[in-house]
Parts: sequence; structure tokens; C-alpha cells
Amino acid sequence: MKSQLSRRAMLQTAGALTVSCAVSAEAAPLNSLAGVDRVTILPGKTYLRGWTGYGDPPRSNRPRGSQPEAPPETGPATTALWSKESGPGSVTFADAKSLVTTATFSTPGEYVLKLTVENGQASTSSTLNVKVETPPPARQLDAVYTKNFKVDNPLWSARTKALMVSWIPHCIDQINRTDLTQGPGGIDNFVEAGKALRGEPHGAHKGYVFSNAWVHQTVEAMSIALMIDPQGDPEIIQAHQKMKATLDDWIPKILAAQEPDGYLQTAFTLPRLSARGNVDPGPFQHWERRGDHEGYTAGYFLESAINHYLMTGKKDARLYNAARKLADCWYDNLGPAPKKAWYDGHQEMEQALVRFGRFVNDMEGGGKGQKYIELAKFLLDCRYTTARNDRERQEYDQSHLPVTQQYEAVGHAVRAVYNYSGMADVAVETHDVDYQSAVKSLWDNIVNKKYYVTGGVGSGETSEGFGPNYSLRNAAYCESCSSCGEIFFQWKMNLAYHDAKYADLYEETMYNALLGGTDLEGKHFYYTNPLDANETRTPWHVCPCCVGNIARTLLMLPTWVYAKSADGVYVNLFIGSTITVENVGGMDVQMVQATNYPWDGKVSITVNPKAPKNFSVRIRVPERGVSSLYQSTPDANGMTSLAVNGSVVKPAIDKGYAVITREWKAGDRIDLVLPMKVQRVRASEKIAADRHKVALRYGPLMYNIEKVDQDIGKALSRKTPLTTEWRKDLLGGVMVIQGAFSDGSAMVAIPNFARTNRDPEAPPQPDFPPPGAPGARPASRPATSIVWIQEA
Ligand SMILES: [Zn+2]
Repeated sequence: MKSQLSRRAMLQTAGALTVSCAVSAEAAPLNSLAGVDRVTILPGKTYLRGWTGYGDPPRSNRPRGSQPEAPPETGPATTALWSKESGPGSVTFADAKSLVTTATFSTPGEYVLKLTVENGQASTSSTLNVKVETPPPARQLDAVYTKNFKVDNPLWSARTKALMVSWIPHCIDQINRTDLTQGPGGIDNFVEAGKALRGEPHGAHKGYVFSNAWVHQTVEAMSIALMIDPQGDPEIIQAHQKMKATLDDWIPKILAAQEPDGYLQTAFTLPRLSARGNVDPGPFQHWERRGDHEGYTAGYFLESAINHYLMTGKKDARLYNAARKLADCWYDNLGPAPKKAWYDGHQEMEQALVRFGRFVNDMEGGGKGQKYIELAKFLLDCRYTTARNDRERQEYDQSHLPVTQQYEAVGHAVRAVYNYSGMADVAVETHDVDYQSAVKSLWDNIVNKKYYVTGGVGSGETSEGFGPNYSLRNAAYCESCSSCGEIFFQWKMNLAYHDAKYADLYEETMYNALLGGTDLEGKHFYYTNPLDANETRTPWHVCPCCVGNIARTLLMLPTWVYAKSADGVYVNLFIGSTITVENVGGMDVQMVQATNYPWDGKVSITVNPKAPKNFSVRIRVPERGVSSLYQSTPDANGMTSLAVNGSVVKPAIDKGYAVITREWKAGDRIDLVLPMKVQRVRASEKIAADRHKVALRYGPLMYNIEKVDQDIGKALSRKTPLTTEWRKDLLGGVMVIQGAFSDGSAMVAIPNFARTNRDPEAPPQPDFPPPGAPGARPASRPATSIVWIQEA
């Protein structure tokens, strides 16, 4: 039940009786002009859950920390009727008189459904906008696995180097420590679990139950980093040596902590300490409690094994085999009866099982990974349906409704985007039309109602989670992990729909909400990424999530830069690099990009197939306005020019890609220029926090103004020309945007990812909000770096 958009009608009747009859159909008000409440993929149905009554609709699955509701108002009994208000085709309701029913549609297009309610004295109604679409292509694009690659690009060489030489070694050192009091529980948990399994004296589990995530994510980050060519850089070579030595040290310790049946989570193998420091004897049964993060840690282990196996050239299968054993253990225990039905309170295993299942299919053939994909769907199907009671069904962990009936992004934002990302996988694998409809609806809801201009998600108005539609306060939560999940989700939509707009979106999230997740040196990180920043980054955190997630996601460039199909290569990002895309219709194709993007718009791509071959290269034509929440001027979409081997070409544009089909031979070169202009971005009037404000963008980069440079409370002049200047000595080399405030004083803006690197006075972001605290902390200090600037 979603009640935020319920329409409350006050009607006067004879005798001055006031009837307040609220009708909720998860609908927009009648006078709402735009906006889709949900998408339905043909030939599917949409699930309708109306509510009628007096007063405000109940919010039966209120987020954690919300206030208790007032007792319901009462009045005469009501009757309800669903009808079609408008739309190009016919609509069939399973039962038009039932509040909870379904509707099916005959043809694609935009429909308005209406729920009318009468109580004998008055009537009122509410509407629901449904966009009906045709299904995605039958076959999805294929992911490009990470394999040895080179990064040659001023921005990305610096960012990947900082992650490799500073951040990952720092994570290794922290995880190796046994004396941490804030954020303990690294590799020592595996060492102690190994002792416990061998029957030796051992210590208790340290840290959160999911502290194993530190180790697994850092193993994946190291594995990817080791596939990046150091190109002779002594600091990277030294960091690589440390990573190799760490993997040699850690892998036997991780394997020794795996139980004989394949189960792996040290919080279950070791005794746990209670909050008071006493040993909590448990018992802690496997797959029993929602809060033990069993799937969360298991999923990261499966994922780490993929890139470790690839990094070793498929020669070292220790982690891969252990991951198979863990996935088998889950498959053997969980599933339809007589196996156990269950779901984890924190999603991650779902998307990991699909990623791992596909990988096993690719590595071993014969559909050997298929059972893991089936289990992923089973775990998602268990949400809501196998909750033990209504109290367990909550928006916080997306168990308030069956996942296929969820159309609005709610609850804890990392859990949510991981849920939707796993659902997108299942939709592609099964072609289940209910999954397709829910995934597209959730995507639409996020992008057009709950999406920050930085590509971040999660306002923090619910516990670490989403707020109501259009409620996007700039003291946002935008956890780094939710940016990772947002990238995974958009990337999967790109593969499913073969449409460049999803890559436009993940480029936005990657360059803004995620890239500034660490500082420029790579020594500190942000757990949350508010658009009004008032804190600096922190070296460590009690919560073992974002730490490794930031690095593994940002480093996995081959997967984000390219996708492939049987007939060609898709260029999704413009990053100077040398990456081999394997098996493009049977041919390995090395793709070499040379570009200084995003500092300028010139990109040259050399296509090197092993032998001449006919295929298509599809190049993303950037579109900066995918989210309808934001409008920018001047227009900076499209390409300025495109040439192959020096001759101008005018290719067809298909789903946002310029398609060049020809016989490609080694050395063929594509040159393109992307328009790079300073854009003023303005938000929809519906976003109260951004009214009378403007944000600045250059290419994919959002910009901040910082207190260290100027008074950030001033208003930017509407008339001031905005220019760029390259400052090689500032923040490691950045393009700044310059203009004037309305009082004539100079304004300078720096890229959002480089924010808060020059404010040593600012306090570091404190640790996790205390348990049960609703959402992000209140701003304790005025913002020192902001995205949205007053405009006059
Ligand atoms: Zn996190």
C-alpha cells in the first residue's frame, strides 16, 4: 500500500455532514499533468491495490522510525469500481468491483485508470497512470568480462591509481589489523573460524555479523586491480606486489573458514559477542533470522571468486571451486518444499547467484549454472510470501509486497537497488512478464521521481533509504553502496533493452555519486554522499560495506565501457583504455580508446579484430536529460562529428547508439567529437529543495561550489556567461567553471567528485548513525560544498 499520493476529497452533503473519503490507488492526483505511476509490459497485467475509507489511508508497512498512526475515521460503507478513464486500447479488469484486482491492456500506450468510490451520500475518485510497453528484446546483450586491460586517460589513470596505490593497500592493512575497536573483524574472523573448524581454541566473532564483506569485496577489488596494466609505474607495481602477497595469505585463511558442507560466514562458525561483550551462545541457525546478512556476505564471496578466477587466467580455481561449493550448499538447502523457503533481510545473494550462474554456464557449459539462477528467483519470490507474520513485511527490506507487485522504490536504498538489480537479472533470464513490468516500473519511479542530479539515490528520510516521490532534500543519504547498486541496475537495463539511455544514467552515477566516494589521494571515503556536503571523508567505518564496494565497482571498467552481442560491440563509456572484447560473433576484438574525456570531447577508437570481419560498432550518443526531473540548457546532447578512417559518416541512430556496420580490420579508426558545454541544470518545480536554484554540468560531470573559494550562500547571476578553464595545479588537474554571482563577484565551481578535498577544518563523517536512528543525521554544520546554487 502506497499512500503518499492518495487523493483526499472533502465533500459537503445535506445536513452539513462532512464526509472525508480518501481513495488510494497508489495514484497521482487527478490534476497531475505528467508522470507515470507504473509501467506494464505486454502481455502482462498490472496489480491494483485500491483502498477506500475515511481519513488518511493506512500505511501498513511504515518504514522504521515513523510515528504511530491516528485511529482510523469511520463512516458509511463504501463501494468501489475500477474503470478506464483514457488510453488507446481496451482494459480488462479481473474484477472491476474489487479493490485488489488486476488490469490487462490490449495495446501499448498511456492509460489512465480510475477508481470511483461511493458511500450513498458522496462519491470520490482517484486515478492511476499506466504506461503500457512492448517487451524488451528476446536476447540480452552480453557482459564483457574483466581481463587484462590498460587505462590511458588523465582522469581515470589518476583515479584508478589512487585506488590501487592508496585505497586498496589501506583496506588491506585495516583488514589485517586485530586491534581495531571501530570497525573490527577483518581477516582475523576467518583465522579464528578456521581454528574453530579444526577443533582448536579460538576467539569470538568480531564486528558486525556481515564483517566478512570487507574481506570478500577487497578480494574482488584486488583481483580487478591486478588485471590493470601498471605500464611501468613503480608505485602501482609495488601495490600489485602487496595485493598478490595478500591474496596468497588470505585465500587459505578464507578457505579454512568454509564449513564442510560449503557454508561460509564466520559469524555462524564462531561464538558471537553480545552488545555487552559477553559471549552470546546463540543458537544461530542458518537461514533463520532476517538480520544475519547470510546472503549478503555469501553473495560477495561468489562475486569475488569470479574476478579472482579471471585474474588468474582461469588457472587458480580455489576460490571458484569454493564458491561453487557455497552456492551448492545454498541450493541444496533452500528452494521449494521439501527444501526451505526463506529470504535474507539484506539482498545481494540474488544478483550474485545470477552473475555466478551465468559465469558457471560460460566456464563449464551444459547449463551447470542454471540452478543458481533458479535459486535467485526463488529467493526473490520468497519476499513477502514467506514472511512469518505481517510485522516482518516491511518496506525497509522490500518485503511489504510480493516483488512483482512493487512499483515504487521504497525502504533502505542499498537493499532496494540490489533487489531491483536482482529482479532485472531474473526478468532477463526468465522473460517473466510480471518481473519485467515491476522492474520497468521501479526504474521509472527512481529515475523520474527519486533521483538526484548526481545520479545518487536515497534521501535518507527513511532509515538509510528512499523518501516520498519528489522529496529530494540535499542533505541526502546517497550511500556509496546505493550508487554501486544503481550502476548495476542501470547496466542490467542497458543489457536487457540494448538502449543507450541506461548507460547515460550509469555514466552520471559513476562520475558523480560514486567517483567522489574516496578523496583524491585515496585515503578516506564517504559512506554517504549528500549534495550539501559539510563533512570530510573518513579513513574507516564500523559498517563493512562501501569500503570495498567503491573500489571493486570503479575498477571494473571493461564491463562498464563495453557490451557485446553476436553482431557487434557497444561502446557505452568514453574512457581512454585498451580492452579486449572477447568473442564478438566468434572474433576477439581489441578496442583502443584515446581520449581526454571528460575534460574535452574528442574521442578516437581504434578497432582491432584478430582478423577482418563484418560486424557493427555501436557508439553511445550521449543524452544528458534522461531523468525528467532535470532540464538543462544549452543542449549538449548528441555528437558534433563522427568519422571512420578520416571520412565523415552519418550513421543511423538506433536506441541511442550510432551504428557503424562494415568489415572491420585491425587499425580501423573511429574519430568522434562530443559537445562539451557548460550547462545550467534546473530541477522540476516538484522538488521543493531545488526551487530557485541551479546546478552546473560539464559533459558527464556535475559541479560544486565550495566555501574555500567563495561565499556559497550567494546567488549565481542568471545572465553571467559561464566559461571553463583548465587548472592543472588544482585538485590534481581539473576543468573549473567560472562565472559571476549576482553581486558581480567571481564564482568558481569544481567537479563534484573532487569536492571537500581542501577543507582540513571540516569534521570527518562520523560512524554509523546509532541503531534505529531514522535516516541521515541532521546537518550539524553549515554546508561547505554544494551542488545546487541559489540563482537570481
Ligand atoms: Zn555501504
